[in-house]
Amino acid sequence: MRFSFILLAGGNSDRFKSNKPKQYHEIAGKTLTDISLNKIREFKEIKKIILVCGKNHKTYLKKLNLKNVRLIIGGDTRSESTYRALRYLKKKKIAGKVLIHDAARPNFSRDLIKRIIINSKKNNVVIPILKIHDALKLKLKKQIIHNLDRDNYLTTQTPQCFDINEIFYFHGKKKYKYKDDDLSLVSDSSKIKFINGEKKNLKITNKEDLNLFENLYKSNIKIGIGFDVHRLVKERKLYLGGVKIPSKLGTLGHSDGDPVLHAVIDAILGACGMGDIGEIFSDKNKKYKGISSTKLIKKVIVDIKRKNYMLNNIDINIITQSPKLKQFKKKITFNIANLCGVSINNVNIKAKTTEKLGVIGQEKAIAAEVIVSVIKHD
Ligand code: ZN
Repeated sequence: MRFSFILLAGGNSDRFKSNKPKQYHEIAGKTLTDISLNKIREFKEIKKIILVCGKNHKTYLKKLNLKNVRLIIGGDTRSESTYRALRYLKKKKIAGKVLIHDAARPNFSRDLIKRIIINSKKNNVVIPILKIHDALKLKLKKQIIHNLDRDNYLTTQTPQCFDINEIFYFHGKKKYKYKDDDLSLVSDSSKIKFINGEKKNLKITNKEDLNLFENLYKSNIKIGIGFDVHRLVKERKLYLGGVKIPSKLGTLGHSDGDPVLHAVIDAILGACGMGDIGEIFSDKNKKYKGISSTKLIKKVIVDIKRKNYMLNNIDINIITQSPKLKQFKKKITFNIANLCGVSINNVNIKAKTTEKLGVIGQEKAIAAEVIVSVIKHD
């Protein structure tokens, strides 16, 4: 079964009382839109990701990581935006199922997506719902309140999953004439499966919701520290952050001896509580002799993703007397961002000297220290 994902980020957040639409608000260096996209990109079943943004959102898009994302300009309403994305799928002859999601709900779990995918195999429509636990009233006039049986009511969340052809047909029929979710378009004859939604998958409508989400999100952030030092010798190459640097001296090591990537790896492993680089890539193992540290970090990124960790940001000190690194900083930043799957805004490099003091000052060694933050998603 092939899945597509439509992320609706076209709104201007009129109820949010801010110049910036809420979907571009940043938490720990990532926008709410990025937080959703990063989780979705991890699903192999989801072959196509469409981000629907507003026509006046261009400035905000520059900061997003749009890898493997198709951008579509939305319409004036949610329904028009959804229709445009569905029309794109139809035009590209993409069939199968589609998950339609509001960017104002960035706190869905990966488990929710898994359950939607599993349930959509036997059902045309899959909708996450919540039961109502508060007492429910109908306000008739001033002072006249009618008590309702809350067991007869439920609230719906997104992502909602549909058959592409079916939901496109319903959208075309009732073009832009609805305000609610996409389920409200579907006829009674469709096979609908309701599954448990998540309280934490809250819809961010106002500042209070955003504060709540920030607190939930930040409680899953962890920090890690890494340090590495390598001897500088003749007839070795110098790699820093996976970039080959022209130099008379190079680093001695069992691998390519890249102290920057080694410290980044240790910081990542530290943040995720997964030990250290030596435990994973032993220098007694011939397999790693002369290996490029780029390969090592790629494996670590795969390993942490398997445990539901994602990187937030990386801060690096490279400590060396020579060579001077100013002209290489940009290239190293870009390379590390690319290897770690974060935007370049989330990688920071500082080149330091030791004022000619000690072994580093005498150009006998080169060191790196790194702090990273990661987030764990469930
Ligand atoms: Zn090392």
